[in-house]
Amino acid sequence: MVRENLKAVQEKIGQACARAHRPAEDVTLIAVSKTKPVEMIREAYEAGIRDFGENKVQELMDKIPQLPSDIRWHMIGHLQRNKVKYLVGKVAMIHSVDSLRLAEEISREAVKQDTTVKILIEVNVAGEESKFGVKPEETEALVRAAAALPGIRVCGLMTIAPITQDPESSRIFFRTLKNLSVDMEGKNIDNVHMVCLSMGMTGDYETACEEGATFVRVGTGIFGERSWQI
Ligand SMILES: *Cc1c(COP(=O)(O)O)cnc(C)c1O
Repeated sequence: MVRENLKAVQEKIGQACARAHRPAEDVTLIAVSKTKPVEMIREAYEAGIRDFGENKVQELMDKIPQLPSDIRWHMIGHLQRNKVKYLVGKVAMIHSVDSLRLAEEISREAVKQDTTVKILIEVNVAGEESKFGVKPEETEALVRAAAALPGIRVCGLMTIAPITQDPESSRIFFRTLKNLSVDMEGKNIDNVHMVCLSMGMTGDYETACEEGATFVRVGTGIFGERSWQI
């Protein structure tokens, strides 16, 4: 089932990119494997997927040693500062940096381990109370402050659009994030290159591709419904 689902998702990404006159290679599909067993992850791996997303540090730490070492793990969930030390050196990118204190902790741990951590700044574009992320108007300050820290590379922005049945309703949020990203890039901040835009989930990843996503994070559409946890 995973293999068939993946093929369908990849086809839709290709079609959405074609509509937007973008090369499909510009979009990396992150298979969001949270709550799913390593057997299913292995199936996706065997079908060619190398980028996987998880939102819980403990689950990620359990899965990493059981799976091939060329997997690029993406931390996409809210992150507590006391868990940062487990992630640094293990994940390809942290998509959910939403405060300077968290960025500082990542920096501290990166310096300690003599490495550089790629991060995205999570923006709460829709201003939902229930969501993490900085406000659009606070983005520049956090981008500047995080970029000035050693051991961190700010690679772009991430957002989660409000839950909806209609993918068209996400378009405005994706477009806003893209515009914010272009705006940040135009400021020529040292150590900042806004090359990544992480947006779009099962319900709206095609819209996200049309609006410039470079990472789409698809869980349910690949692995099926989750029985617990969001
Ligand atoms: C769970 C999750 C996803 C994937 O959601 P689906 O709707 O199952 O595709 C994407 N991004 C984040 C941040 C998530 O927590």
